[in-house]
Amino acid sequence: TMSHMKKYVYNFSSSNSEGGVLNNDLLGGKGANLGEMSAIGLPIPPGFTITTEVCSYFFQNDKQYPETLKDEILLSIKSVEQDIKKYFGNNTNPLLFSIRSGAPISMPGMMDSILNLGLNDKTVIGLGDISNDRRFALDSYRRFIQMYGNVVLGIEHEKFEDDIDSRKRSENKILDIEFDEEDLDWIIDAFKDTIERFSGAEFPQDPRIQLWNSISAVFKSWMNPRAIAYRKIKNIPNTLGTGVTIQSMVYGNLNNNSATGIAFTRNPSTGANKIFGEYLVNAQGEDVVAGIRTPFPINKNEHSNDNSLEEIMPEMYTELKALSTRLENHYRDMQDIEFTIENKKLYLLQTRNAQRSAQADVKIAVDLVNESLISEEEALLRVNPSSLEALLHPVLAPNSKKEFFSKGLNASPGAASGVICFSIAEVEAVSETGGKSILIREETSPEDIQGMFISSGLVTIKGGMTSHAAVVARGMGRPCIVGAGKLFIDQEKKTVSNKKIVLKSGDLITIDGFSGEIYLGKLETADPELSNDYLTIMNWADKYRNLQIRSNAETVTDISKALSFGAEGVGLCRTEHMFFEDERIIFIREMIMSDTKQGREIALKKLLNFQRDDFIEIFRLLKEKPITIRLLDLPMHEFLPNSHIEIKEVANALNVGESYAKEKVHQLQESNPMLGHRGVRMAITYPEIYEMQVRAIFEAVVYVKRNNKLKISPEIMIPLVSNSMEIKLVKRLVQRIRNRIEIELGEKINFTLGTMIELPSAAVRGKEISKEVSFFSFGTNDLTQTVLGLSRDDSSKFLNQYVEKKLFEKDPFVSIDIESVGKIVEIGTINGRQGNNSLKIGICGEHGADPESINFFEILGIDYISCSPYKIPLARLAAAQASILLDRK
Ligand code: PEP
Ligand code: MG
Repeated sequence: TMSHMKKYVYNFSSSNSEGGVLNNDLLGGKGANLGEMSAIGLPIPPGFTITTEVCSYFFQNDKQYPETLKDEILLSIKSVEQDIKKYFGNNTNPLLFSIRSGAPISMPGMMDSILNLGLNDKTVIGLGDISNDRRFALDSYRRFIQMYGNVVLGIEHEKFEDDIDSRKRSENKILDIEFDEEDLDWIIDAFKDTIERFSGAEFPQDPRIQLWNSISAVFKSWMNPRAIAYRKIKNIPNTLGTGVTIQSMVYGNLNNNSATGIAFTRNPSTGANKIFGEYLVNAQGEDVVAGIRTPFPINKNEHSNDNSLEEIMPEMYTELKALSTRLENHYRDMQDIEFTIENKKLYLLQTRNAQRSAQADVKIAVDLVNESLISEEEALLRVNPSSLEALLHPVLAPNSKKEFFSKGLNASPGAASGVICFSIAEVEAVSETGGKSILIREETSPEDIQGMFISSGLVTIKGGMTSHAAVVARGMGRPCIVGAGKLFIDQEKKTVSNKKIVLKSGDLITIDGFSGEIYLGKLETADPELSNDYLTIMNWADKYRNLQIRSNAETVTDISKALSFGAEGVGLCRTEHMFFEDERIIFIREMIMSDTKQGREIALKKLLNFQRDDFIEIFRLLKEKPITIRLLDLPMHEFLPNSHIEIKEVANALNVGESYAKEKVHQLQESNPMLGHRGVRMAITYPEIYEMQVRAIFEAVVYVKRNNKLKISPEIMIPLVSNSMEIKLVKRLVQRIRNRIEIELGEKINFTLGTMIELPSAAVRGKEISKEVSFFSFGTNDLTQTVLGLSRDDSSKFLNQYVEKKLFEKDPFVSIDIESVGKIVEIGTINGRQGNNSLKIGICGEHGADPESINFFEILGIDYISCSPYKIPLARLAAAQASILLDRK
């Protein structure tokens, strides 16, 4: 009987919602929200939602549906008919539907939708009679045929645009709105022919057949390439599925008292607490988002021109503002609303939590706390740590010499330079050579998503602030300018011009996503000012987090940067990086290429001076903040000369024969350099290297004690250790040098000794190792390499495929593989604390900048993490989120 059967369809209307509230996974975002909106009595057109379970069923059962689905849909149609007294397929009083997708996680613009479904040669007459507007009815019909042809039958848009263009040419018309009834009649016939020509079948007149086919097409669009690409980038599982929402139509294209638009309850770019958006008079929904007609603003002042909703339809504007407040109070977050005005009556078609720029994200979170809508903890949980980096990125240097090229709308903030590209292929080619590109497009389409991801910025000629490009770019934190309508693209010649200057593909430009301006050439950029809201969020984060945050940094520039972003010290000073500079690398080469201890010591003497002076500067900069200095970890291949020319230069500099140098380089080359003669292993064979480094550190400690009154107790760390014997050896070395310098200089020197845990064996032997040291720092980069047996240097070639095929959830070098590498970190932590209950434990691999990994480290009870300077704010916030979530458990 029916009562035992699974329910696949849920109705909603302005007075009743079957789905209940927040049934997001089952109904998808759109369906769930419509249910929720109907539950709070908002003006929405009635309809029903087919669940995401049907989507999964559909793909698991060879694109078939559950048996009972059709009957459920027919019942739901009946209920809509009774509600609004229009009838599906009825010739005199037709009910029309929109068919839309809606996944549990928003995927704007990625899937297909269909409007005006239910029109045919007969119902179109009824619609014309009821609305008293035959032109409107015909216009709706031709839109439906085109969408149906495109979405259901897969016929390209251009085929239909060709029909439209040929009518425009023959009738001497320019805009769609100039079409009269006769034109539209002609176009409808042409469209039907086009459908027959390309699909081999007539356009279906039966509304039910239209409906079944459209539902299937929308489900199928879940697996279209651009939706799959989007989910991959956003890490959304393919298994979620989409819901399909079928909603009675309201007509924004009914007359000049009708309109359609998109509104954000706050400004998505700046976060300002004022309704913001765009609309078009006498138009249907797709016109606004597709970026084909450039829409007008909702507010009077946002743009300098007129035609705003506020001016043209003031009562509607007031009503929209009131609804916006109501929605925000209900959802306690900024909303993104789709609305339609049908003959002076306002309907909401959709609301969802709005995507926004990183700036807006932070401002809105703080504002909502100040407006008492959410708590500090909730505000912290809402801000996406990964988007904070966008706030730290460059703006145009204030006094840079700008040569203006053009201007559009400032859709997503940030400044970027790059070479002009007109296609995704060009962007990809540029990125393969390591170059930066700015993608310039006529209008935006969801296919551009891949291109946006790898380009440095995006410009579009048409489209508005809510166009697809703008939404996606804001989400990705890419600078983006849309609606640069004064520009002209010549696709054939691959040029873009502002009528005076013609630029070609490959020319350099700079875009400023803050102002919407485009400049010639590459402009200088400067660091942005951090807003008070950002500082507030960071202060709150520091209040709630347990993990200490340090930085991986070894130069004065990087350490200053890290401190300004809130690092509490240096967690990893990679001393080999202090020798990367051109004038220093030669001494490292001299050292590793010399045959004798004496030869090495000559090179080391020179290095000692550099190293000591560097440490003095660093200690002064840090004041007395902690610093972990890692003794040399030289992967040989990063330092040996490679090319003929390089070898020749080195031979000259070292005053040895070229063939000798070549032979020496050959001897030193390793097949697995990352598993080779690096880290502590080099100290076992050449102890004089660590002796020099320890001397440099301690001499610097004494220097700043005497000259700057700074009490520094450096944390000295040993890399790539596998057992406690290695530690004991280095420990004796460090103590010996310390004792010697104490006598030489007559000062007491404090230090602590610790070790990296980068090999499984070190974690397993954590108990014996921890007895020798004060701290562990997990080098999760090498640990990932050694636990998974994946080369850090080479595996990217195939890792992508692993991630694509879901053999790894994420790249394990980015996000810690909890079950394997994470398990070893856990074992090392437990063992370490068993051997030494005051052991301090940190993480210094790249995983210290990944929110999910940070969450895992918080659960393990790690003391600190260390990451690169620009990731510090991310780490502070992610640590706070982890601790708030842990408290809630
Ligand atoms: C690590 O291995 O995680 C680490 C921090 O050291 P490096 O990246 O320098 O090998
Ligand atoms: Mg390492």
